[in-house]
Amino acid sequence: MPNKARADLETLYRIFTVPEAPESTLGAIDQAITDDVAGFLQTHIVATERPLEEIEADFASVVIPEEPTYVSEYTEFVQEHLVAQSVHTAAPGFVGHMTSAFPYFMLPLARLLTALNQNLVKVETSKAFTPMERQVLAMLHHLIFRCPDDFYPPWIHNSQAALGAFCSGGTIANITALWVARNRLFAPDGNFRGIAQEGLARALRHTGYEGIAVLVSERGHYSLGKAADLLGIGRDQLVRVPTDDHNRMDLHALREACRRLQDANIRPLALVGIAGTTETGNVDPLEAMADVAQELGCHFHVDAAWGGPTLFSDHYRHLLAGIERADSVTIDAHKQLYVPMGAGMVVFKDPTAVSAIEHHAAYILRHGSKDLGSHTLEGSRPGKALLVHAGLSIIGRKGYELLIDLGIERAKTFAQLIRQHPDFELTSEPELNILTYRYCPAAVQKPLITAQPEEQARINALLDQVCLLVQKHQREAGRTFVSRTRLHASRYNGEITVLRSVLANPLTTDEILATVLREECEIVRQPDIQALLHQI
Ligand SMILES: *Cc1c(COP(=O)(O)O)cnc(C)c1O
Repeated sequence: MPNKARADLETLYRIFTVPEAPESTLGAIDQAITDDVAGFLQTHIVATERPLEEIEADFASVVIPEEPTYVSEYTEFVQEHLVAQSVHTAAPGFVGHMTSAFPYFMLPLARLLTALNQNLVKVETSKAFTPMERQVLAMLHHLIFRCPDDFYPPWIHNSQAALGAFCSGGTIANITALWVARNRLFAPDGNFRGIAQEGLARALRHTGYEGIAVLVSERGHYSLGKAADLLGIGRDQLVRVPTDDHNRMDLHALREACRRLQDANIRPLALVGIAGTTETGNVDPLEAMADVAQELGCHFHVDAAWGGPTLFSDHYRHLLAGIERADSVTIDAHKQLYVPMGAGMVVFKDPTAVSAIEHHAAYILRHGSKDLGSHTLEGSRPGKALLVHAGLSIIGRKGYELLIDLGIERAKTFAQLIRQHPDFELTSEPELNILTYRYCPAAVQKPLITAQPEEQARINALLDQVCLLVQKHQREAGRTFVSRTRLHASRYNGEITVLRSVLANPLTTDEILATVLREECEIVRQPDIQALLHQI
């Protein structure tokens, strides 16, 4: 607490009303992130090789502190144990995950929305923020579905409808989409009062199906597994359709899977197309999948959590052709809309679709109210839509186009660097701005291709371990960062471990990408990795 570490009323009043002095620890941090957030992160996050287990020891006590402490004392703890040990996700050499830098104005606006503390669940606590969020959803609806201008006025602020739902991320967005699909499939019908009322068991009995299924490619995001679990579909009924050599859903395999479901009397609830797979950034054949969904009479959802903003680009929008035929689309704002963590959206083509999940309560969310909470999975929600609104208004379509183009072109450059390097193998070509590769020394590459399957598997198993160690050492050194995953490689007829690079930070230069490879080449000289390579 500010004055004295004592729990008395006067001190409590002060911490609610009087801010920290600028020269205090918290005041100084506040000033530093206001003046130069990039510089602050650069100097205060110290890359250490401290193991996680050691850091856990700083957070091991289960006793809630009895006595109050000084804010400055606590802030010193934050600085030393949290800030210093954080991950510098905004660093231009951090090219392994979907979290990167954001434009400077996001930070003061995020502080402003914290200060306003609006609760978007209901108009009574969010007045102007409610229409603003509805506008954001309408803008994305327009970006995806391109409905004529006169389509929007009756719907945009209509209490009976919603063009989408704002939420904390892609996971909740995907769950919401499948929730709507499920409730529409089992809508009230005669004596049956709908699944929302009667539950899945009765819904199946009413319709005579054995079960319901969701079809997605093998590259589908794990959030769909959570959705299948949560919505009573069951993970077994999340049908993972094999992909082709470009990590896109194989349409023959899709038809095959549909036949099997039909034979088992399982009703396809939804077909999910991916616009930008999390691991490889590929886009499913959305147009053809829309046709299949139409034939099946099932919901067509496009998970564009990552790739959705490609629609901003005149040059690359065509890669997502067919997305406009979706019933629902997920877009994560905290990915390629460059909003800080905790913002996602699902948009519905039919503005009345969300009525399938409408919920009311007596004290809020009353019938006919414009409360957003009647159509969202989450209850109390912050006004994060402001940050999306700000991005769209300040950066604009053309600004986002530039960011998207930059990322896709940088991925092409990186792919070229990898291809030209004798000791690396490009394991997936970038379609958007994600690629995978692995360390595979020149001397191994040729014999590996011609080796017998058993020998191939043996070598690949060793290369998998090399890949794992390279990624681990690189992460621990903390200068640059790539992630890793396992992918099926048709060339070797099996799964291999690969490094994964996501190129969305506009501050990442070609020079930094060259450094990433150089660092990896240095890492493989370490004895543990050399020992593995010698076994090949
Ligand atoms: C990131 C991602 C998600 C999940 O989003 P969260 O914001 O992490 O919940 C879903 N689908 C795809 C394709 C993604 O890339």
